[in-house]
Amino acid sequence: MADVDVVVVGAGLSGLICARALRRQGRQVRILEARDRPGGRLHSRATALGVEVDLGGQWGGRDHHHLAALIQELGLGRFPSPYDGDGVFHWRGVRRTAPLAERFADSLLFFQPSALGLPPREVSEALRLQAALDKLAREVPAIAPWTAPNALALDQTTIAAWLDGQQAGPLARHVFRWFARVGGSGGFELHESSLLHLAWTQAVAPQSASPEDWLVEGGMGQVGRRLAAEQADALRLRAPVEAIAESAAEVRVRHSGGEELRARAVVVAIPPALRLAIQFSPPLPPAWTAWLQRAPMGGMVKVLALYPEAFWRQEGLSGLGIGDLSLLQLTADSSPPGGRPGILASFIAADAAAHWQRQPEATRRAGVLSDLASYWGPQAATPTELIVHNWNAEPWTRGAFTSFLTPGAWTAHGPIWRQPHGRVIWAGTEAATRWPGYFEGAVEAGLAAAAQAGAWLGG
Ligand SMILES: Cc1cc2nc3c(=O)[nH]c(=O)nc-3n(C[C@H](O)[C@H](O)[C@H](O)COP(=O)(O)OP(=O)(O)OC[C@H]3O[C@@H](n4cnc5c(N)ncnc54)[C@H](O)[C@@H]3O)c2cc1C
Repeated sequence: MADVDVVVVGAGLSGLICARALRRQGRQVRILEARDRPGGRLHSRATALGVEVDLGGQWGGRDHHHLAALIQELGLGRFPSPYDGDGVFHWRGVRRTAPLAERFADSLLFFQPSALGLPPREVSEALRLQAALDKLAREVPAIAPWTAPNALALDQTTIAAWLDGQQAGPLARHVFRWFARVGGSGGFELHESSLLHLAWTQAVAPQSASPEDWLVEGGMGQVGRRLAAEQADALRLRAPVEAIAESAAEVRVRHSGGEELRARAVVVAIPPALRLAIQFSPPLPPAWTAWLQRAPMGGMVKVLALYPEAFWRQEGLSGLGIGDLSLLQLTADSSPPGGRPGILASFIAADAAAHWQRQPEATRRAGVLSDLASYWGPQAATPTELIVHNWNAEPWTRGAFTSFLTPGAWTAHGPIWRQPHGRVIWAGTEAATRWPGYFEGAVEAGLAAAAQAGAWLGG
């Protein structure tokens, strides 16, 4: 006799949404979470200035409909992410302010290309190669990228090698590096993944669809806490799952708290690389482990700098900064409406994060403040509070924003990607076919897993 109908492994957004949907079907559910808090990559904390800041994800996108509906259902307010005014493009030691384009598709990384004052030949080459990526993305099927035209060649070519073949100049490489490091999927370098994977990320989570469109009043972190509070009776914290063993009659799930639960189905809603730490019986087939071993997490550090007010707004600036500085590849205004306090959210990604985290604390802080000042002037170097959160150091996430695939992995191992293992169903944002790596994907994958488990269990 099973203890519960379904065990959900992981109380991130995806696991919490899945458990909630199953409970609404009338199922008995237990959620096992490794950390001492729910939410996973959805995580916020209080600041000295009295507001909450999101250490993990914070933005919703223009067509993130599942997420928008959830925010509304939870009674939380949304407001447009502020982009009024010029942005700053820092390139080869020169700080340029320029207006943002109406549409990402017409822009050079959000900026009106002609306003940047860059050599027209370099700009048109970057735009031509960006258009070539868009064209490839339109040809990559979301649920089966390995079936795209020319998939094998595209998957065996690193993004760097493709750019070499195109004799791409530094500006075009910078645009692609930005896509790989912080543009959605995030956290990897041009030599670490294939052109097929990059095209797939833009097929399923296009930057042109404005994924950083709105923010939540009081911060996104509330979402995880509220979903967890609704299901407090079903949630066990500090319960990392170590083993999942299936027999003819049931699935047994053991966590390090010592408890073993018997269930009729299991939903595993954790990042792919972490699934390798669970002992499955029967073992995962070789195709599964091969795929998981080729799906590392990106490298990501989030920086939040708080100021009494959003001073850049008085200078007609939007807070959007992009450039080739050594650490901060992107900064954006994430202040509450009204701009008090002023908050700049920034990211250190991929190899820059690897290098940064090897430095002593004082060097790390000085580097971040120096880049903030390069974008936003000397005032930016003296924040009231500087919060730096290294996701690579989190044992239950091991990097961010999401996983990426190494060259050749989609075509050699891709078809296994979403296949259940016996009575184990995969959720988590990495299992989504639309907006994987984002909150929206986490919700989609959680709902899909709940529907699948419900269909298995029957009425
Ligand atoms: C810095 C940063 C910025 C981001 N920005 C955005 C953004 O602006 N907009 C956006 O849409 N998305 C953003 N994201 C991505 C977004 O946060 C994630 O896509 C989403 O939160 C993933 O949810 P999840 O439930 O799939 O996974 P997770 O949040 O990773 O949840 C998995 C849970 O499983 C737990 N776990 C792991 N292993 C075990 C185990 N063995 N046993 C039990 N529990 C386990 C973990 O502790 C965790 O709580 C960002 C992420 C980061 C880190």
